Amino acid sequence: MKLVILGPPGSGKGTVSEQLEREFHFLHVSAGELLRNEAAQKTEEGQKINALITVGKLVPPEIIVALVKEKVKSKRKYILDGFPRSVDQAEMIKDLSIDKVLYLDVPDELLVERFTGRRVCKQGHHSYHLKYLPPKKAGICDYDGSPLLQRSDDTPKAIKERLRIFHSETKPVIEYYRKKGLLMKIDGSPLPEIVAQNVKEILQKLDPKL
Ligand code: AMP
Repeated sequence: MKLVILGPPGSGKGTVSEQLEREFHFLHVSAGELLRNEAAQKTEEGQKINALITVGKLVPPEIIVALVKEKVKSKRKYILDGFPRSVDQAEMIKDLSIDKVLYLDVPDELLVERFTGRRVCKQGHHSYHLKYLPPKKAGICDYDGSPLLQRSDDTPKAIKERLRIFHSETKPVIEYYRKKGLLMKIDGSPLPEIVAQNVKEILQKLDPKL
């Protein structure tokens, strides 16, 4: 099964994807994580990506499409987290033949509180929330023991831009997949564990052998 998970920044895409990775062994491909890894390389391209992420803008489609395609090459069970984020990206991955698109619907008002409490582990793969999804030991990742950090683009200015881009660029992708009959809209407002549980039940109904 090939899945895409979309939603505004802070909607819980990463948390739901991590659960699907742990329970059903989906390969979790986070577009943001792939780009942050690239940005950490001190190459010219890495610096260009870093500058765009810091201000909350999308990186050029050919860069992210190439990174994702490389990652999923010859794989059949994966979840693309935060990708595609624009209609041109969606057109560029038609050949992947995505089965379902999960859309985590969360009103903008709820997102602001989620951002302020969000923490990610230093390895960059596991996400937490100080109030809604705290780690077992304060400041330490449950899974890899690395310290928890606040993302450099979780600043009020970058968040505003990321939300603006979600509405202008990514909402049309949601409509694009709705027209193709692939969209599943999920209420992303409840606590992350509840949303993840709801998603698991929906997927198990689609494919009981998951
Ligand atoms: P995320 O971790 O999903 O919140 O993504 C963090 C940042 O990475 C975004 O604000 C963008 O700058 C960049 N990014 C993530 N996914 C994409 C994508 N599909 N296309 C372009 N830029 C992206």
